[in-house]
Amino acid sequence: MRVAIVNIGTIVSGDLRRPFAPGDTIITDGDRIAAVGTASTVDVEQCDVVIDADGTTAIPGLIDSHVHITFGDFTPRQQTIGYLESYLQGGVTTAISASEVHVPGRPHDADGVKALAVAAHKCFEHYRPGGMKVYAGSVILEPSLTGNDLGEIAKQGVWLAKAGFGAFDSAYDYAPLIAAARAHGMITTVHTGGSSIPGSGAITGDHLLALNPHVSFHVNGGPTAMPDQDFERLIVESEIALQICTAGNLRTALLCAKLAQQHNAFERLIIATDTPTGSGVMPLGMLYTISHLASLGGIGPERCIAAATGSNARVYDLDCGVLAPGKAADIALIDAPDGGTQDTALGAISHGDIAAVGAVISGGEPRFVGRSRNTPGTTRKVRVASCRLARDFSGARH
Ligand SMILES: [Zn+2]
Repeated sequence: MRVAIVNIGTIVSGDLRRPFAPGDTIITDGDRIAAVGTASTVDVEQCDVVIDADGTTAIPGLIDSHVHITFGDFTPRQQTIGYLESYLQGGVTTAISASEVHVPGRPHDADGVKALAVAAHKCFEHYRPGGMKVYAGSVILEPSLTGNDLGEIAKQGVWLAKAGFGAFDSAYDYAPLIAAARAHGMITTVHTGGSSIPGSGAITGDHLLALNPHVSFHVNGGPTAMPDQDFERLIVESEIALQICTAGNLRTALLCAKLAQQHNAFERLIIATDTPTGSGVMPLGMLYTISHLASLGGIGPERCIAAATGSNARVYDLDCGVLAPGKAADIALIDAPDGGTQDTALGAISHGDIAAVGAVISGGEPRFVGRSRNTPGTTRKVRVASCRLARDFSGARH
């Protein structure tokens, strides 16, 4: 399928270094972006679907790098089905598993955690609930695992590893397994802050600096934060990515963002939700955290959007998150919410409102055009201008 989006008001690229792209048109071909900025009339006319953005703002589909994936589009913790499809209605086109720790009765032995990660990875390789791309299969590091075990599952495609839920006496004991996971090419992640498992201790700056993972999961607390003084140390003394989560401590999220800006380390700051958990299913969590950082932290909304898109993609080495030719065709059209005081999506975000989502394209396919069922309506009217396919993209159910 070829899709053209025309009459875009502003293109936010998702790339922190060049957060805006000039032009008013995006063309996708199959599951890739073919052109960003301008296109000839002929190119637009050759598309199967033409979407009139009516002056709204195009952003890359949001990447939630901390989702409690299990199997299928189901969260046992909140006994809810269809939550991933619901997140897509909030502009999220990619979900990265925070490990399949919420699978009821999940195994703790080496064979069990390996099988769980491999099965989750393979179950989501081609399955896109509601159009969501899901990267699942994050191996839960347990003391019985060896470096060879990690090598074995890396060969099966597992590329995510999670420290923080294993039966270790001390968090420092994760160090050899994290190093082994890194050696096998995995992205390593460590729970940060107060424990969410009874009996295990808090994980703080000293632990993170010793373990040196790629990502500090919910650096602002999941949901309980580490000591304030540890944030600056993490920023200055390491290269660890700083994952700010919606379901964490808002005050330390703002503290961390401020320090990251001060130390010119904002490209290491990435946004995620850490849901569904005890905090619930939060389809608009990414939009809320973008708005919190922009409106309370005084950070440019285009920079906050980059933290939720291109910066996540860079840390996790994904081919999405940036509006540029060759990247994954994952795009959201957002706008000032209807009935608000602001004129544009970026103005609304800086004002503390959440943006209204007017369309989501993922994997090159429009998933809905016109109205998200989860956000307020857009001020401008995104619509299908022409369509050669026997398809209806109005999608939203109210
Ligand atoms: Zn979590």
